[in-house]
Amino acid sequence: MSAVLAASCVPVHITDRRVSGLLVIEWDDGAISSLRHGDLRQRCRCAACTQRQRSGQLPDPPAALSAIRPVADKGLNLVFADGHERGIYPWTYLRELGDESA
Ligand SMILES: [Zn+2]
Repeated sequence: MSAVLAASCVPVHITDRRVSGLLVIEWDDGAISSLRHGDLRQRCRCAACTQRQRSGQLPDPPAALSAIRPVADKGLNLVFADGHERGIYPWTYLRELGDESA
């Protein structure tokens, strides 16, 4: 966790590679996070998904990204092909997910 806090959470470039199903974020410290759409869907932290996980249910099936909406300078609101659009992904969380899968 402390390593994540020390890492940059300022994105300089965001690319949605739809064909390979990857959201690629380049950070201002030069690191690059390649996040799979399906993983992002399953790691959604909105109230409904958090509730689901707390009650021991399996996460929703993976889904591709269909839209990316910036949330001020805080992060991204990701919209998925299954219609789920409530997930807010702060930059710190996206960086954490990227470092985890690196
Ligand atoms: Zn959700």
